[in-house]
Amino acid sequence: MAPRRKKIYEGKAKILYEGPEPGTLIQYFKDDATAGNGQRKEVFEGKGALNSRLSEFFMTGLNAIGVPTHFIRTLNMREQLVRQVEIIPLEVIVRNYAAGSMARRLGLDEGTQLPRPIVEFCYKADKLGDPLVPEEYIVAFGWASQQDLDDIVSLALRVNDFLSGVMHGVGIRLIDFKIEVGRIWDNDFPSLVVADEISPDSARLWDIATGRKLDKDVFRQNLGSLTDAYAEVARRLGVLPQGTTHHRIKPTLIN
Ligand code: 5GP
Repeated sequence: MAPRRKKIYEGKAKILYEGPEPGTLIQYFKDDATAGNGQRKEVFEGKGALNSRLSEFFMTGLNAIGVPTHFIRTLNMREQLVRQVEIIPLEVIVRNYAAGSMARRLGLDEGTQLPRPIVEFCYKADKLGDPLVPEEYIVAFGWASQQDLDDIVSLALRVNDFLSGVMHGVGIRLIDFKIEVGRIWDNDFPSLVVADEISPDSARLWDIATGRKLDKDVFRQNLGSLTDAYAEVARRLGVLPQGTTHHRIKPTLIN
């Protein structure tokens, strides 16, 4: 019997397994959704496949315009082959409109347009609730160098321009999103790439015509069906995986 593959890491929404070649990993998208730093958890059938497909779509597009990512190729409905990276322990957030923690912190109405895209950093530490940190902390504690930070900001803003444009084309406003960045080494030469995932789990996406939320806030705020919202994003982008929504026809028992 083939040995079970080795699990490298299990997070709230994904599992990483050892890849087929050195320097690669398999990224498995779970159906789990968590909110409040893991305090609330539910399983949504089909969410993993939708996020895998959407993340593939965004990462492939980024690769095509010269924004490097960890994505190599899709293996099946919920698994991707990705490059192994050294994750920089930061959540890199780009905001175009006030929402979520920024709206709360500054007392802004959700949806207020910001004067320009704002990039902020949170230290990746679940136990601490991923606190917002200034650049000085990041450099002083050695989580990333000043040069890394400059490169991360330009990477994040390129991702923002790409995603905003793509989403605008299908009538969706990109309010904000989070990416993670990893370091890869090619012949001792380091570079930074977009890692993890880009999906409605890690972005705020509002329908431009109606203001309907099409992202994880649907779960956080109990606004209806999470998979319906994600499927709507996938449908508009023309990447809805076949048979992954809960509307699919269930097998019928034949006597
Ligand atoms: P906020 O700071 O307003 O809660 O989040 C800003 C943006 O980053 C939102 O699009 C949110 O979904 C994303 N984000 C922030 N923290 C996390 C996290 O720990 N996991 C994921 N998946 N997304 C996050």
